[in-house]
Amino acid sequence: MSDLFSGLESLGLGSLEGMSIYDEEKKAATDAKGQAAVHEVTEEELLLDRTFKCPVCDNQFKSKTVKTGKVRLLSQDTDLRPKYTPFDALKYDAVACPKCGYAAVARFFNVMTTPQAKLIKEKISVGFKGIDNEKATYSYEDAIERHKLALVNAVVKKARISERAYTCMRLGWLYRGMAEALPKDTPNYETTIQSLKAQENEFIKNAYEGFSAALSKEDFPICGMDENTLVYLVADLARRSGKYDIALKLLSEVITSRSAKSALKDKARDLKEIISAERK
Ligand SMILES: [Zn+2]
Repeated sequence: MSDLFSGLESLGLGSLEGMSIYDEEKKAATDAKGQAAVHEVTEEELLLDRTFKCPVCDNQFKSKTVKTGKVRLLSQDTDLRPKYTPFDALKYDAVACPKCGYAAVARFFNVMTTPQAKLIKEKISVGFKGIDNEKATYSYEDAIERHKLALVNAVVKKARISERAYTCMRLGWLYRGMAEALPKDTPNYETTIQSLKAQENEFIKNAYEGFSAALSKEDFPICGMDENTLVYLVADLARRSGKYDIALKLLSEVITSRSAKSALKDKARDLKEIISAERK
């Protein structure tokens, strides 16, 4: 094929020697096929701009939110992480004020006292250089950046320990989602997966520590969870942090609890089996 046109050089057409005879037609055929295909709904079309008023600086701004009912729950991981289709809705759950740098996971966004707002102004707003608020969709990198901003705010404003733990858990979930979505032909695939897994583990470990403390220090419901659900969750976070004995002890609490629902007890029994298999 490559020398079909050899000899053209003597005609002064050497630069055309590498031409392929049918490329144009092949390309035209692919284009036509592309246009005929059914319009697939894009991630962008399933998002809307929701207006928020910043409780720190009063700025009104828009933030990307997933339209209600547009993503479907596919499954749930053992630590209650929901997996959605057609895209990971968890990416859109941090809200960040583009003016002052205040950010939080949506459910905590409006929880703000005057002393907390003062702390954020002094420690975050003064150095904040802004965040790109014009993106049509968020990549995992964007989502992680926003959630890290939410975490640093939670620490600065001395948020409840459960809010800090919850934000850590969300970050762990985002790293897990990013690893699951990583194309297999990514250069250095294995190294990248290992690094994402290490970062996930770090956040999960921190979530475990925080929720574990919240169990004994805070009143229920905690982050929308009743006591049995949180004990189950802490058990799985402990398992993921390699603390099997603690995990088993907590799972027994759930299984023998009088108030735990049978579906949760089933989950706890399944998790016990996973632990026995992992220990072998
Ligand atoms: Zn603000």
